[in-house]
Amino acid sequence: MAVQNSIATILKGWDHRREGDTIIHLVSELYPICRSITGDGFRESVRRLASQVPIETHEVPSGTTVFDWTVPKEWNIRDAYISTVSGQRVVDFKQHNLHVVNYSVPVKRRIGLSELREHLFTRPDAPDWIPYRTSYYKEDWGFCLSQRRLEAMTDPEYEVFIDSTLEPGQLTYGEYCVPGETDSEVLISVHSCHPSLCNDNLSGMTVAVRLAALLTGLNLRYSYRFLWIPGTIGAITWLALHEQHLGRIKHGLVLSCIGDSGRFTYKRSRHDTAEIDCVVEYVLRSSGQPVEARDFSPIGYDERQYCSPGIALPVGCFMRTPNGEYPEYHTSADDLTLVTSEALGESLKQLLRVVGTLEGNRRYRNLYPKGEPQLGRRGLYRLMGGTDNDDLERAALWVLNFSDGRHSLLDIAERSRFPFDVVAHAAERLVTHSLLSPVNAGVTDA
Ligand code: ZN
Repeated sequence: MAVQNSIATILKGWDHRREGDTIIHLVSELYPICRSITGDGFRESVRRLASQVPIETHEVPSGTTVFDWTVPKEWNIRDAYISTVSGQRVVDFKQHNLHVVNYSVPVKRRIGLSELREHLFTRPDAPDWIPYRTSYYKEDWGFCLSQRRLEAMTDPEYEVFIDSTLEPGQLTYGEYCVPGETDSEVLISVHSCHPSLCNDNLSGMTVAVRLAALLTGLNLRYSYRFLWIPGTIGAITWLALHEQHLGRIKHGLVLSCIGDSGRFTYKRSRHDTAEIDCVVEYVLRSSGQPVEARDFSPIGYDERQYCSPGIALPVGCFMRTPNGEYPEYHTSADDLTLVTSEALGESLKQLLRVVGTLEGNRRYRNLYPKGEPQLGRRGLYRLMGGTDNDDLERAALWVLNFSDGRHSLLDIAERSRFPFDVVAHAAERLVTHSLLSPVNAGVTDA
């Protein structure tokens, strides 16, 4: 139970402002970088996250076959603009990297407004915001701009210039593992391919790296594998390259959109009642925060890949307001004003509670299952007065009764309605007095 104590110690001294401010600082540092599913922006982002923990950068060559996909060419961009024929920039990548359709091929030409319009994207319903668009798998080019900017473009012709390259190169991802006592793993995966967007994806990228930093050096039962990967193609690439390794992954979470002030939303794994699903739902319900849990669907983030039928890992998605359900989603308004230090710090705190609960959620066998063992003789019953001790005694009776090797401590907490920490403490005392023995010393469901 040293692990529980270590995480408990971190939580006890929890300073919301300090943790939240550390994360916000990282978000601000990463915000201006033009990330994509490949390229130097992704590399630079991983390099900066590696100020927190020694993340390993991996490179997979373009053209590599990964399941039904092929690793694409690498995209890099230096400059892009639309200017008047007299050279005045009216749309400028250097002002906002969302202005260029991500993965645009190079272009340099004079173009009539009506033809140019076929390459321009706006959000008429939110006329001041720049939308976020990509063209990863179709070679094309385009610009995104506010509806108001578009309406002000009345010249018959413009110059367009995109100084990009789309060439054979590498797909980059970052990986970091916190080793535990066993090689059973918990996977934490975050897509890290969006350019200047804060909630969707910088919140997940930065909270994940702080979680990794806080877990480093703790005495953990599970190993924790963190991935910073490009969405979809990155998850598919990692799965294809590590297929023989997937049996070690016992639990997993995709983190996304965890910096806004909305309620927590947990999307269950495809299993619906996997241990990770039960743990996250328990932690969020008991957090005192507004929470929504919803069933798996094959629409969303990389849980789609981890929960595809041929992979079928128990991986849920931990969010606040889900993708597509807040107005700023995939626009320039998903900026530094949308995410708060408080929300980011609280998300990290709840993730630490998830880890603490997973670590402590063992199954035990009652070694004296015929009748109740005599607790008084062992100093476990009515030695001291006080409500806390009464709770501990009652929780011990629940633990003894349901420790049949099938029920986990979380099952017992749910059934008895005692807090998980009380049930875990009761179990610890029963183990100390040789009344309980853990089932599968390594993991609960190995
Ligand atoms: Zn997105």
